[in-house]
Amino acid sequence: MRFDVFTLFPEVFEPYLGASILQRASQRRLAEVHLHNIRDWATDRHHVTDDEPYGGGGGMVMKPEPVFAAVEDVLGSPPACPLVLLTPQGRVFTQRVAQELSQVPRLGLLCGRYEGVDERVRQHLVSDEISIGDYVLTGGELPALLLIDAVTRLLPGVLGDPDGAWDDSHASGLLEYPHYTRPVEFRGWRVPEVLLSGDHARLARWRRQQALLRTWQRRPDLLSSAGLTPQDLDYLAKLDADDQLKI
Ligand code: SAH
Repeated sequence: MRFDVFTLFPEVFEPYLGASILQRASQRRLAEVHLHNIRDWATDRHHVTDDEPYGGGGGMVMKPEPVFAAVEDVLGSPPACPLVLLTPQGRVFTQRVAQELSQVPRLGLLCGRYEGVDERVRQHLVSDEISIGDYVLTGGELPALLLIDAVTRLLPGVLGDPDGAWDDSHASGLLEYPHYTRPVEFRGWRVPEVLLSGDHARLARWRRQQALLRTWQRRPDLLSSAGLTPQDLDYLAKLDADDQLKI
């Protein structure tokens, strides 16, 4: 998969993309990230990319000309692939959106700064708008990195374990079960016995029940859209019944 990122601050991407799993994904050509500095498409002497808002008010607005020129130069006119504007006004990014985006071979990402981009960019250039949550950052670079990270780890071959992404929280609609590693006892706290038992059926049942328990405790809102089996429903009914007894 290829990402084309349009930003005024390409340098903030490099350290993060150059470490760990994302670095390995790029070395193995599973995910390529191409960074484009919008400033390179500003034609005036000072390479100005922002200007004051019409109508007054504080802050600066990213000018349309360099953004259109950069995107059309790299992606064609109209853009040959989806172009996502990162904005707190977009649809909210979730694991489901990450899965959806991991299906396309190429994706453009446009990072705003200051008050954001001129409205005509939103109306006539981008094909999608994504927010990473209900808060406001200084720029779209962290949101773009976050999206690249979440999408890349879903691409075939990126995680060492091919099933690694399957059990993850939010992949199946549930939060994931807890993890333990060596030592078997740390400060007197032991690893649950079932993890050492070698009994695969019991282990699978424990993990499923732990995932259900965590989701029931922390994010009951997720349960209604999770794919639940009759056994899952029995277990949840038991949790509800025990809970009723406590009151
Ligand atoms: N004035 C804008 C916010 C500008 S924040 C408004 O109120 O809608 C500056 C830039 O940071 C935005 O253009 C966007 O690219 C990025 N940004 C800030 N918060 C974001 C969020 N929650 N999700 C995605 N991008 C965000």
